[in-house]
Amino acid sequence: MRTRLEKFDYLQHQRDVSVLIIGGGINGIGLFRELALQNINVLLVEKADFFNGASAASSHMIHGGLRYLENGEFRLVRESLTERNNLLKNAPHAVSPLPTTIPIFSWTSGFVNGALRFLRLSNRSTKRGALLVKTGLTMYDFLTRKQRLMPSHSLTGKRAALAQRPFLNPDIVCTATYFDAQIYLPERLGIELIQDAEAANPQCNALNYLRLAGLEAQAVKLVDELTQTVYTLHPQLVVNATGAWIDFTNQALRQRTQYIGGTKGSHIVIDNPALLEATQGDMMYFENEDGRICIFFPYFDKVLAGSTDILEDKPDEAICEAHEIDYILESIRQVFPAIEVKRSEVVYHFCGVRPLPASNAITTGKISRDHSVNVLAPNEIVPFPIYSMVGGKWTTFRGFSQQVGDLILKQLDKPRTVATDSLAIGGGKDYPRGEDERTQWIQNQAQSTHLPVERIRMLFERYGTRAEDVAAFLSAADDQPLQHQPHYSYREISYIIDHEYVTSLSDLVLRRTLLAILGELSSELIEELATIMASQHHWTLEIKKTQIDALLATLTRKHGVQFSVPQSID
Ligand SMILES: Cc1cc2nc3c(=O)[nH]c(=O)nc-3n(C[C@H](O)[C@H](O)[C@H](O)COP(=O)(O)OP(=O)(O)OC[C@H]3O[C@@H](n4cnc5c(N)ncnc54)[C@H](O)[C@@H]3O)c2cc1C
Repeated sequence: MRTRLEKFDYLQHQRDVSVLIIGGGINGIGLFRELALQNINVLLVEKADFFNGASAASSHMIHGGLRYLENGEFRLVRESLTERNNLLKNAPHAVSPLPTTIPIFSWTSGFVNGALRFLRLSNRSTKRGALLVKTGLTMYDFLTRKQRLMPSHSLTGKRAALAQRPFLNPDIVCTATYFDAQIYLPERLGIELIQDAEAANPQCNALNYLRLAGLEAQAVKLVDELTQTVYTLHPQLVVNATGAWIDFTNQALRQRTQYIGGTKGSHIVIDNPALLEATQGDMMYFENEDGRICIFFPYFDKVLAGSTDILEDKPDEAICEAHEIDYILESIRQVFPAIEVKRSEVVYHFCGVRPLPASNAITTGKISRDHSVNVLAPNEIVPFPIYSMVGGKWTTFRGFSQQVGDLILKQLDKPRTVATDSLAIGGGKDYPRGEDERTQWIQNQAQSTHLPVERIRMLFERYGTRAEDVAAFLSAADDQPLQHQPHYSYREISYIIDHEYVTSLSDLVLRRTLLAILGELSSELIEELATIMASQHHWTLEIKKTQIDALLATLTRKHGVQFSVPQSID
């Protein structure tokens, strides 16, 4: 694996990359892998950490988008379902089936209006009754009939539904259950895509904290955010994959566009055992009073709930606001009115801006979640074409990347050599199928590394088959559990820092581990992690303190988590 320094060295000497991708969210990273695998000389730059934007703020669903059927977005649903199934097969360590239950409050409501919306003859939102939901789920099942990986949908009558979930709102007439999928830590899968790409093609590089700053004499100007060093580059082609920032990026490249009409969405993580128990392991998928779809589902020992949908044109400033937390808490009461969920039980919140296409839709929910690519031809100021990747779901990143990748290959007159639709990702490679195979795999690793079976199981759940490398690293020298979070060890944290492009303490805490989102942080743990990072990155005490302060400020401002500054920083 190339170090950050080696990559910059390469950049100094190699100024003629074929493709420059700006933006290290899932769309930029997906395309980076796609092109790297076809042997293209590609550079990806991200102004902050990878997954700084919407890609780290999703509802963690890998789904077909049941709701989009109402908008008549048939093609999108079909593509999403295909990609969902691809991910279940290619990344089984990261993406898993998610049973989803819809509480339904009427039999027939919304059916006529739903049909009209489907035929694009109406824009009105009405409550979705059982008949409408049943129709949607039947279509959903129909679309995956040739590639069924999970059970088809079922309806449960009121009495049985209440027997199964006694706290469910007694006003329901029935519930419907179907299967979609979830991704626990999307950021980790993104990191694996980069690792796979860089391993496959030595002339491709992905760099975080490298910002596109503009144009300088027809060259692209990049600024290293850590050192303020400026680099210039002459790419053959530029891809603008900066999500909600797309128009700002084009402006920096002296092009005026109005492609994006972003909406911000917030989620909260709740520590309420009664609510967790009431879900019975399912995602609860329901309609709020205003017609918006809300969700909540078990997230390890917590509950993840969301989301809001509010127009937002300043992506750097988007944060989850108090009224959004109230909105989400209120929506949960509609499903389980007898369970009290307190504000103080919200252990974490997060927010991101969906890079939706600019639209005149009367409600944000009606704006298409489909993706498209807009191409700006070269001109006398900008000597290269710019491909802007607009919209898209986390779920559809591979399909979108493949489509844009094919356009670029055509432009560069290069052949496609590798297909990605059934290519395993990261720890999904050689993944043992079935319980017996998995148990055997874990036992084999325990035997060869002399680590306890339980430890290997934990690593396998975190890293899939990459656990083999992690376990080998852990067992190569003395190791011990972290003092303030025994589920991680010193060498495991060191491994993550060394192998997963960790540049700042915030990268490690917010995007490579679940420590922050699950509310497991303490000031002592932050200090312990900062000490490991400081020793590995040779930080002075001053840098270490700056890193801790930056993390604490982000936790407070963006995630509603507050600690006192650690006492000792030595
Ligand atoms: C609230 C919410 C819930 C969602 N839920 C789901 C879901 O459950 N399932 C699903 O499939 N999809 C979901 N999505 C949609 C999905 O997350 C997004 O569509 C997808 O992540 C967009 O990825 P992107 O790469 O285009 O943009 P982003 O992830 O926003 O990436 C853009 C990147 O560009 C970088 N950048 C900006 N300017 C520059 C510059 N000048 N130089 C270098 N880099 C720059 C940014 O820092 C950022 O990291 C959700 C989105 C949101 C916001």
